[in-house]
Amino acid sequence: MSTTADPVKIAVLGCGTVGTEVVRLLLTQAEDLAARVGAGIELAGVYVRDTSVPRDPVVPVGALTSDADALVDGADVVVELMGGIEPARTLILRALNRGAAVVTANKALLAERGAELYEAADAAGADLYYEAAVAGAIPLVRPVRESLAGDTVTRILGIVNGTTNYVLDEMTSKGLSYDEVVAEAQRLGYAEADPTADVGGHDAAAKAAILASLAFHQRVGLDDVYCEGITAITPDDIQAATETGRVIKLLAVAERTDTGVSVRVHPTLVPVDHPLAGVRGAFNAVFVEAEAAGELMFYGQGAGGLPTASAVLGDIVSVARHQANGGKGPLESNYASHEVLPMDAALTRYAVRMSVPDRPGTLAAVASIFAAHGVGIESVRQMAGKGHAGLILSTHRAYEAALRATVEELRDTDAVKDVWSVLRIEGEL
Ligand code: NAP
Repeated sequence: MSTTADPVKIAVLGCGTVGTEVVRLLLTQAEDLAARVGAGIELAGVYVRDTSVPRDPVVPVGALTSDADALVDGADVVVELMGGIEPARTLILRALNRGAAVVTANKALLAERGAELYEAADAAGADLYYEAAVAGAIPLVRPVRESLAGDTVTRILGIVNGTTNYVLDEMTSKGLSYDEVVAEAQRLGYAEADPTADVGGHDAAAKAAILASLAFHQRVGLDDVYCEGITAITPDDIQAATETGRVIKLLAVAERTDTGVSVRVHPTLVPVDHPLAGVRGAFNAVFVEAEAAGELMFYGQGAGGLPTASAVLGDIVSVARHQANGGKGPLESNYASHEVLPMDAALTRYAVRMSVPDRPGTLAAVASIFAAHGVGIESVRQMAGKGHAGLILSTHRAYEAALRATVEELRDTDAVKDVWSVLRIEGEL
């Protein structure tokens, strides 16, 4: 590895949206970066599949290479910005095994194969940094991993996917349907041609797994995260939320309870006066509750080439400082072993929206079904319709299993015509 006299050699793997902006910042800010690191920063090369494809002019043609192994083997710092599992995993392991530092933005790889990467980093005494993997430009991994290392994080509520926040926000503010907004988002480039990873909640689930692992000092993988997307949200759900003083957000929730940790992603009703309710458009925000610190809110751009590159560069400077001046970033902290709870054991509040026959005794019959399953009703809102009434019942905190059993019975009884939707509520006392 480098001495203080040697420049730190940086290999960039991938030259897409983020990789291009990382190269831009590395080259245009080289002097400042060198001053901050205490050694020169040298772009060793940029790995791409096809070196003949035209690239942004900021990327020197001579830096492009299709020989990833040689590039990795000659670098002090390997910056992985390809995405996906392979060949990113193999190249990162190759870099770590020879003691090079790794910076990556690859949430999917960390959530699925993180254990293997952390073990390789720890065995080699190499740095593994990934600030950009969760919520793009927002400093979040470092605050949770380092600044809150002396505190006990009890709960994280995060809007960590910009596409879904944009879709829900447009549905709320313009009264449009899910399909209309997604089509418009695709036209504007806010949503992928195949938006499944975003709207299905899978992107947020990977970030939830990473955040929960950091916050609770134990390994939480993608398989541990309950995941429900926003595809079933209707304009009626949005309108009912508005009428009850709430907005719908796709939240990543990671919380410690008396019995274990619960990690989940689902559309969630949030009261309009909660800080997360005011997060508009494609912005991200993460609300952290810690025993000593209390409530903390992190807000900013969760994606985009340049914002994400900012987080990547921050990591590059940190690991390059270690390369140049000695020192080492934190090891993986995984000493804890709380049970990762199944969704049935999640404890939260719910809003159940249903239509009931417009006749006396209906409300009592419905209430008795909730009571039979131990689910307390906190409030009832009635909306009149032709020959039926629309009801929104907000519950006290109850176990998911109890709520599910309640809804199954509601669907079976003739006291209820239809259960339209069930949404979880967070952020209300
Ligand atoms: P992208 O625009 O699709 O770029 C990916 C780059 O990696 C392309 O240059 C691509 O090569 C290259 N690549 C992919 N597979 C490869 C392979 N098998 N061999 C060689 N090169 C390969 O992706 P991105 O948006 O920059 O995202 C990069 C990473 O950052 C991902 O892990 C993503 O999750 C993460 N991230 C992105 C954002 C964002 O806003 N975009 C935000 C946070 C985190 P070609 O040029 O040949 O296609």
